[in-house]
Amino acid sequence: HLKQPERFAALDRVARQGDRWDGRVFRVSNPSTGELLAELPDMGVEQTRIAIDRAHVAQAEWAARTARDRSDTLWRWHQLILDHTDDLAAILTAEMGKPLPEAVSEVSHAAAYLQWYAEEANRIYGETISAPSTDRRMLVIKQPIGVVGTITPWNFPASMVARKISPALAAGCAIVLKPAEQTPLVAGAMFALAAEAGFPDGVVNLIYASDGAAVGRELCSNRKVRKISFTGSTEVGRLLMRQCSDQVKKVSLELGGNAPFIVFDDADVDAAVDGAIQAKFRNAGQTCVSANRLYVQSGVHDEFAAKFTARVRSLSVGDGFEPGIAIGPLIDTQALVKIEAHIADAIQKGGAICCGGRQAGHGGTFFEPTVLTDITSEMLLAQEETFGPLAPIIRFEDPDQVVREANDTIYGLAAYFYASNLKRVWHVAEKLEYGMIGINTGRMSSEAAPFGGMKQSGIGREGSRHGLEEYLEMKYLCMGGL
Ligand code: ADP
Repeated sequence: HLKQPERFAALDRVARQGDRWDGRVFRVSNPSTGELLAELPDMGVEQTRIAIDRAHVAQAEWAARTARDRSDTLWRWHQLILDHTDDLAAILTAEMGKPLPEAVSEVSHAAAYLQWYAEEANRIYGETISAPSTDRRMLVIKQPIGVVGTITPWNFPASMVARKISPALAAGCAIVLKPAEQTPLVAGAMFALAAEAGFPDGVVNLIYASDGAAVGRELCSNRKVRKISFTGSTEVGRLLMRQCSDQVKKVSLELGGNAPFIVFDDADVDAAVDGAIQAKFRNAGQTCVSANRLYVQSGVHDEFAAKFTARVRSLSVGDGFEPGIAIGPLIDTQALVKIEAHIADAIQKGGAICCGGRQAGHGGTFFEPTVLTDITSEMLLAQEETFGPLAPIIRFEDPDQVVREANDTIYGLAAYFYASNLKRVWHVAEKLEYGMIGINTGRMSSEAAPFGGMKQSGIGREGSRHGLEEYLEMKYLCMGGL
């Protein structure tokens, strides 16, 4: 299996960049073992420009095809991804560290986006409007926005690629994608399969690069790129938005979160424990929708804390290729430093450790899943996204106050709550200032639903019919003299 990334990388390099590559390479290694997986061609501004030029030419031809034709190509890509699920999952676990079953689930999630947008490609509708005078007719048509520059993160290196590319291609756009430098191999493999699916030359372009900032600047400043679609940190999102402002370039941004997970007294506590385990520890807590703050009402606090801690103790940490592993390594030492700093700050301000709290025995970036109680909102971990396997529990009394506290953040991506009283369910769902609310569930991401955030968690939505709109321009046609 581990030979696979190298094969795909080489294939992709030869197929796409040819002799323009200047020989510089960067390394990709396995975060579980430190093993070198591949040396990839390190591309920069020049190769990005070439890719944009190619995309610009190819886009016109791609947009001129029938929707059915675009749909058929997406279907073929979808099938190829399903056929190669095991290889893609193995590449993903090798470069990113997540447990193999989670990688398999991510690949099927990626395939589901391709399936959804293969279907949606055929459902792009315009409209006619009743004109205010009899000699006119008014219509709206939808057209692809053009060349799209996309930048993806390391935490979901396969599904983020699919989530951005599939609606863009369905709409008739061409794309230039730069995957995260830590996890470019599964993207390379998916692009190799895209070539096999029969996308015309230049419609999908991959840039392997260690210098994300340089590629990002070119994508934002090149006038042939009409839109930037980015998933990553709020800090880089702000920078990209600034860089796009000169040309008023359209942006879709999916940025950081600080998700509250609220358990009210009327909740089913066992269900809430299950949901919290999923919402907190999937991908070792390295997701933008990870529960970052667990608020538990005093009537069920002790029961929830005891049951939750028992479950967390049973989660095993280790190499994602080993069977039964629930938590893989953190992506790098910076991530380790952050979780340690959050724990130290909480302890210093009165927090108590129920379990975990240290690096796991394996060394490297493995960290024990951790539960803390006696948490207050002044602590760093309640204000910033930890992006690691750390669950802080905050006791609360007043249901209105907890909603205010949950909203007291610059972020607005995902929130979760558990309750059974119908009046409360509606009231809280409407009051929470988040783009996505999980009600009595710890997992809600789906190709059929709009994923995205309010406030500084982003702009735009991915998935569902709304995700397609992000790649379409609306054009008003006014026919006079009739
Ligand atoms: P994280 O901190 O989780 O790695 P980042 O926002 O830094 O999140 O990274 C997400 C993606 O953004 C990666 O593909 C990374 O290479 C890219 N990136 C990082 N810095 C910049 C930048 N200045 N301009 C454009 N892209 C960037």
